[in-house]
Amino acid sequence: MGFEWLPAKNYKRHYICLKCQKGFKRASKEDIKNPVDDDFSNLMSDYYEATSQIDIVKYINAAYEKIKVSCPQCKNAMKQVHYDFEVPALRDNKSWKNLRATLLTTIDYETYIHWHRIQLQETPPNTSTYQLLTQNLEKLSKLTHSKK
Ligand SMILES: [Zn+2]
Repeated sequence: MGFEWLPAKNYKRHYICLKCQKGFKRASKEDIKNPVDDDFSNLMSDYYEATSQIDIVKYINAAYEKIKVSCPQCKNAMKQVHYDFEVPALRDNKSWKNLRATLLTTIDYETYIHWHRIQLQETPPNTSTYQLLTQNLEKLSKLTHSKK
């Protein structure tokens, strides 16, 4: 699936600052104190459990703004990376240049698209949820296509 879930107790968020060329970890203790998390499955469940659905793209963007973590050095928004992501050395400018090119899009819509595809397989057709999932999947797919 390309996406791994971690037990909550081991869950630490890893971030990189593309400007400072450094990686930062956020302690899990802090995560407990800040229940507003980016647990993406919860994020999507909350969306579909809410009665008044706002635009899926607006919702994702708002959620993203909330979880944005600033770099302790330059105060710019950092990019969250997978926990086993290997942070290049500070002087490894070539690797950082590549990262800037590939990680430029701040929101990874593909992950959301993937989630929708799975949900659609598990949701009975002819339900309102199914319709909404289909609509939102279309919206999200358009976003990634227009970028390419
Ligand atoms: Zn920085």
